[in-house]
Amino acid sequence: MTGTKTGIGEAVRKAYEVLETGEPLAREVAMELAALEGEDVMDLASLANKVRNRYASLPGEGLHSCSIVNAKSGVCAENCRFCAQSLHNTADVEQYSLLDAGNIVEAAGEVYRQGVRRFGIVTSGYGYRKINPEFLRIVRMIDLLQETYPGLQVCASLGMLGEEPAGMLAEHNVAHYNINIQVSPGRYGELIADTHAVGDRIETIRLLNRYGIPVCCGGILGVGESMEDRVDFIYALQELEIAVIPLNVLVPIDGTPLQGSVTPALTDIVKTFAICRLAHPGTIIKFAAGRETVMKDFQGLLMLSGANGFLTGGYLTTRGRDMQDDRRLMQQLALFSSPQAV
Ligand code: SF4
Repeated sequence: MTGTKTGIGEAVRKAYEVLETGEPLAREVAMELAALEGEDVMDLASLANKVRNRYASLPGEGLHSCSIVNAKSGVCAENCRFCAQSLHNTADVEQYSLLDAGNIVEAAGEVYRQGVRRFGIVTSGYGYRKINPEFLRIVRMIDLLQETYPGLQVCASLGMLGEEPAGMLAEHNVAHYNINIQVSPGRYGELIADTHAVGDRIETIRLLNRYGIPVCCGGILGVGESMEDRVDFIYALQELEIAVIPLNVLVPIDGTPLQGSVTPALTDIVKTFAICRLAHPGTIIKFAAGRETVMKDFQGLLMLSGANGFLTGGYLTTRGRDMQDDRRLMQQLALFSSPQAV
């Protein structure tokens, strides 16, 4: 159904129940919304923005912003098709082993001084099944950042974890642990990577849940998935206990199998953001990579389609934009929230 004959589609009317009840959208309705086209998509975006204001506003903060540092880059044996850091790809990417603690403190200081209060240490590679000297260095960096910058929430994205490393991160008060399932789990092997299984990622998420570490888990749009796959991905997240959902739009990098990929239609991206909000009314949903570089003029529209956070100050292998510009954007977006939500 498109809803174009009757103006606002029947599916949008059903979706308004989420605004009244705060209960997540039913999957069947999400599938109907996924078929909306043209001007009806804006009804959906508007609804998602209202749901975000009512159930996921962050009083006193406006939007949830965070920054990351690529603490160990390249030389990864996994074959993620979007990633410049994979040894299977020929992308021109900086390669370096784990940075010194001094570099990490400096990188965090730069964004801290600009008001960012969440900072993630990210490393390339499969992850840490066991505690090893490199993992212990990362844990010391987490401690050091917490000591150096009062109020800074320190996050980590270190790949798959075993029991002991997960337990150690919990002891050191990691604020969020990022690990993405990227796409519908049923299509992970085909669309993302086959050197590891999505099940390894899900196992790590369950482990983090057990240790009480809030999980940041999302995905990437534009890797060859359909709208139905996107709905599957959104509902797969419902079955995991996820605190933050980062949504990325593929930045196609030369030298990766996704080089030259065409970005999905803007309306499809808006629908995905909005459906994600309706399926996860109270969760933090962040716009991560692709916001400035791919979505450009439309990043504001996407931020008004249910998102309540973004990644600022640069990405793993691509640059972001001036953080002042992001601050201005935040202030303008606040005009679309109810006064108590900003
Ligand atoms: S996304 Fe992570 S695991 Fe996959 S190739 Fe890149 S660095 Fe390796």
